[in-house]
Amino acid sequence: MGGVRVKGTALLSTKQFLVDRYGADGMARTLAVLSGAERDLVERRLQAALWYPFEHWIHLCEAAATVLNGGDLALCREMGRYGGLKDLRVAVPHLLQTGDPLQLVAFAPQLWSLYYDSGRVEIAGERPGYFELFVRDFGHPHEGHCLRVAGWIDACIELYSMRGGTEILGCRARGDAECKFRATWSAPATAPAPAAP
Ligand SMILES: [Zn+2]
Repeated sequence: MGGVRVKGTALLSTKQFLVDRYGADGMARTLAVLSGAERDLVERRLQAALWYPFEHWIHLCEAAATVLNGGDLALCREMGRYGGLKDLRVAVPHLLQTGDPLQLVAFAPQLWSLYYDSGRVEIAGERPGYFELFVRDFGHPHEGHCLRVAGWIDACIELYSMRGGTEILGCRARGDAECKFRATWSAPATAPAPAAP
């Protein structure tokens, strides 16, 4: 499947999400349905700075969805939000002081290559309260992965205390021509300003 690789940081973040959300017991039950080699890798040998076959991430997410969420990959979206909220506060705190999600998402193309060695991200149609995001030429399209991307975009909106969300408009894993997302948001209503003198 194209030999796509994912950075250890992404696998570790997924593992941390599963433990935080479902406890050590949930993590153990997930590991139990992986192959012996993958269980050993996820349990003991992951290193943040190394690259691993993307298939391991898929297998981990599919196992977690099966064991913990009735087979529903929607947990991948939560996982993306979790990772975004956690990582972006550490990675780019200066970008969160002022502004809106557009200034954060402008870095998405660079951030992508820190986590994946295949495909690229393009931002289009950006204007206040709106942008589109495309994942192009990714070697191993998967619905859970696009859900994770959508959750990450949700986190970008949330980090600016905006109201809004992300729609997945297309996904190659579902047979669409491209993996496409649309984010929309607005500032929450604030208390009425005092009347001008
Ligand atoms: Zn997709």
